[in-house]
Amino acid sequence: MVRYIEIESKTLINKLKYRDNWFWNIYTLNPYKGCQFACNYCDAITEKYLVHRDFKDFSREIYVKINAPEILKREARKIGKDVIAFGGVTDIYQPAEKRYELTRKILEVLLKEGFPVHLGTKSTLILRDIELLREIKENSWCTVTVTITTFSDQFAKIFEPLAPKPRERIRVVKNLVKEGIDAGVMFTPIIPFILDNDENLREVIKETSEAKAKYLLHGTMTLRSNQKIRFLNLLRKRWPKLIDKYRELYNGGTEPKRDYMVEINRKAFKLCKRYRVRDYIEPPSFHRGFKENFEVSYSLLLLAYFYEMRGKNPYATWAYHKAAKAIEELKTSIKKLYEEGKLEEIKGIGKSIKKTITEYLEKGRIAKLEELKNKW
Ligand code: SF4
Repeated sequence: MVRYIEIESKTLINKLKYRDNWFWNIYTLNPYKGCQFACNYCDAITEKYLVHRDFKDFSREIYVKINAPEILKREARKIGKDVIAFGGVTDIYQPAEKRYELTRKILEVLLKEGFPVHLGTKSTLILRDIELLREIKENSWCTVTVTITTFSDQFAKIFEPLAPKPRERIRVVKNLVKEGIDAGVMFTPIIPFILDNDENLREVIKETSEAKAKYLLHGTMTLRSNQKIRFLNLLRKRWPKLIDKYRELYNGGTEPKRDYMVEINRKAFKLCKRYRVRDYIEPPSFHRGFKENFEVSYSLLLLAYFYEMRGKNPYATWAYHKAAKAIEELKTSIKKLYEEGKLEEIKGIGKSIKKTITEYLEKGRIAKLEELKNKW
């Protein structure tokens, strides 16, 4: 039995310190707290995000921010227009949305205020809002990512018990693309020793390709605090023999060993190539201020994305995030700074990143980035 708890929220938009290089957002927003889809791998039940007294209530008590559209109207006018990602810690089209229509009302505000959006969901209800999404796309930028981790109904029922079936979800992707909306698949989490086999990887990526999805994002599974407790309970019940293998793979940490992650990413990358699916979201055409600054910044973030997929030293990739942020925040054109020989005066720009920026400004492309897009 699910209980809806209506609340008045004081704030709605959350600003990230660094731009996300998967979905290109700098803002996040969640109209609901809790999620009825009750996925057993959900990382939104980690203590960091939790508002419920007990994490088991996450799918039984849904907090509904009934004043969200009004708050948004107020907040949107105070901040610079930029990409907002919806629903990082809840599904914005879960059953509560049928009754409250908060997501729809929020989209209407964002359209009016000219904000670009990324939406993530597992629900077919998103098709209700196709017209709105199309208008946002025409006005600024809009992309929709639908999570699919397997096409086996048996596994989906275990891992995502109350979400629409995977076949229904891929039909959502197909329909959105057919209707002119950019849509792709989120193939995460790839659950170790259960969904990471070649057959499952191939099936998800092949179906994504056949649906004409614009992209597929892939990644392995984290195991943090409550998420870990819940998932290991499930393993104990259904796959007790895997417990030791998980212990070894996670080695007390929150992520699987790096070699394993890189190998799964490599396999997924190869399959994406074989089935001609892009394995990243193209940066938005949208920008604020100096266009060239955003283009350089997006290129650096994409470089970081590909290095992260390949398990490169996190400190090295972090330098790209910092440089990208500094460039976005410049009050002057990066081209002008380059012409004046002042690139190294930008905070966080060392010799190597300076070389990359120079290459982009002189040739309009970065050879290494092109290589990473196409080769492993
Ligand atoms: S749909 Fe997303 S937010 Fe909802 S329970 Fe599943 S993983 Fe968590």
